[in-house]
Amino acid sequence: MSSQNILLEDFNQAPFSSIKTSDYKPAILKAIELAQKDIEAITSSKEEPTFENTIEALEFSGKKLDRVTSIFFNINSAETNEEIQKIAQDVSPLLSEFKNDIILNNVLFKRVKKVYNRRESMDLNKEQTTLLDQKYKAFTRNGANLPSEGQQALREIDKKLSKLKLQFGENVLAETNKYELVVTEESRLGGLPDSFKEEARNIAKSKDTEGWIISLEYPSYIPFMKYADDRELRKELSLAFGSRAFKGDELDNQQIVLDIAKLRYERAKLLGFDSHAHFVLEERMAETPQKVESFLEEMLEKARPAAEREFSQLEKFAKELDQIDTLQKWDSAYYAEKLKQKLFDLDDEKLKPYFQLEKVIDGVFTIAGKLYGLNFEQTTNVDVYHQNVRTYNVTDTLGNDIALFYADFHPRPGKRDGAWMTIYKQQSIENGQNERPHISIVCNFTKPTEKQPSLLTFNEVTTLFHEFGHALHGMLANTTYPSLSGANVYWDFVELPSQVLENWCYEEEALQLFAKHYKTGEAIPQEYITKIKESSNFLEGMATLRQLSFGMLDLSWHAQDPSNVSDVKSHEIEAFEPTKLFPDVASNCMSTAFSHIFQGGYSAGYYSYKWAEVLDADAFEYFTENGIFSKDIADKFKDNILSQGGTEHPMELYKRFRGKEPKPDALLRRAGLISK
Ligand SMILES: [Zn+2]
Repeated sequence: MSSQNILLEDFNQAPFSSIKTSDYKPAILKAIELAQKDIEAITSSKEEPTFENTIEALEFSGKKLDRVTSIFFNINSAETNEEIQKIAQDVSPLLSEFKNDIILNNVLFKRVKKVYNRRESMDLNKEQTTLLDQKYKAFTRNGANLPSEGQQALREIDKKLSKLKLQFGENVLAETNKYELVVTEESRLGGLPDSFKEEARNIAKSKDTEGWIISLEYPSYIPFMKYADDRELRKELSLAFGSRAFKGDELDNQQIVLDIAKLRYERAKLLGFDSHAHFVLEERMAETPQKVESFLEEMLEKARPAAEREFSQLEKFAKELDQIDTLQKWDSAYYAEKLKQKLFDLDDEKLKPYFQLEKVIDGVFTIAGKLYGLNFEQTTNVDVYHQNVRTYNVTDTLGNDIALFYADFHPRPGKRDGAWMTIYKQQSIENGQNERPHISIVCNFTKPTEKQPSLLTFNEVTTLFHEFGHALHGMLANTTYPSLSGANVYWDFVELPSQVLENWCYEEEALQLFAKHYKTGEAIPQEYITKIKESSNFLEGMATLRQLSFGMLDLSWHAQDPSNVSDVKSHEIEAFEPTKLFPDVASNCMSTAFSHIFQGGYSAGYYSYKWAEVLDADAFEYFTENGIFSKDIADKFKDNILSQGGTEHPMELYKRFRGKEPKPDALLRRAGLISK
């Protein structure tokens, strides 16, 4: 088998064009077997456990599995089909089972623990210390140190939790899918774009219904709330959206919310933490719930006055325009959009000619050159999975090989939505050899047409910078261990390199490098740059309060003992009080459909959206103080952040870069929420 399966042979660059879909499953099965052998070699060793024969051996185990699965799952996102999706369904449970077997392997844990207990006497460097700590905690955070009854209890909780989370998500989905707003008179669709109406009409047709169908799915719900002139219909849709899984019927999530919160609390207690948030934040830059709480409160205190000013502005505008007396939740997006158009009159069609994809790519490469001395040379000698994928050799000023960079820009069937950075080969140093990484970004940007090259919306421009920022984190990685390399950092730190780079899109000095009219070559007019900047802060105070309200609701469920909470809605009203702007709607509840924290992985983590913004604004301010192309600051950012991955606690890395801890003031200033 192995002789014909290219994935099981040795390769450096991913051999995309030689891979057959039928190769994946046998390769993954074989690679799991090889990884199991690596683990057995560690556990069956007769030697005393050492850092090298246990921790490092564990770190470098399963290398084939890592490479094959990274190729496979990236293909499943960027160039998939039913056959590949079926394989993903088949192998995913096997992969989690394999990971679970490692975490529950008691012989392995005993060896890891022996090394961990001797850590003080071993003279480890910082990266080794971090590696040891993380390997040890991967076991203990799953109960390895508990007596067997404790372990049993933990497994029971985990089983219940995964069932409840699944049920929560299924209920939200069923509630979302079951609702439809049928509109039979076209006059009630005033304000909506033609493309929206066409889509709503098509949905109705596909269901053999007369008229137009609006649903609670985002592509339908969001534009409707933003553009529909009919206030009654906006209200109807908003109430339906807000009451999902909160109707006291069989799809109601209130009891599930209470149960999940309690089980998470019990689990944390069992492992010796004060709350679920304490457990989660142990592996975050923010470290403790107290720190997150005071962060959210500081932001709230400073953003609240601006939010109130904006709210009255919006209220006044709605009153003047449509005699609205009390601004309700279903008015927010609608009047915000109207006011924005009135104040800025800046639409994408005007900007797009200045953002030709080729020029923006050159621009981002030039910026990476100025900041980090990187050179990008396009090559056609690299194997790709689709003819539209471009590849570049990345070198430094001395011509040293830094990375291989793949870019896949346009949508096609088989590619999922959105934009992301991905890794085909992780950087690491093994046996003195620095293995350089293979990094890719995948996007869904406006395609070129016969008459016109690919012209990006401004939002697409910032997306390209964002993903390229993640890519730099991967490309400039320079660590020994792959699990600490590049973007393998704590969750609330991972968006710093990506978000910080977006700042260059708003700077004249940077825009001049690439924002040129695709036909005339004329530079983007100054008034557009000013408008882009100003409109990016539009109603930022209200938006900030909204984000803070979600962060606070999240903590209210996870940072203390939830056993006294018996009523989900009244708990929520209390949690929302400090951030409230709009009147409460009694029939609505956020928690029962808050999938981010009750189904997905964001519990005790919602704050990280704002946290990441604070970091990027604070970091970028250091650049602006010294010039946005300051080599000195760029070197500090590269040496202390981009190249360091997760080798040390992010706060330590950040302080070494910035000279101090991050403060929210730069963000508040950038967002125009405080002056000076
Ligand atoms: Zn990102």
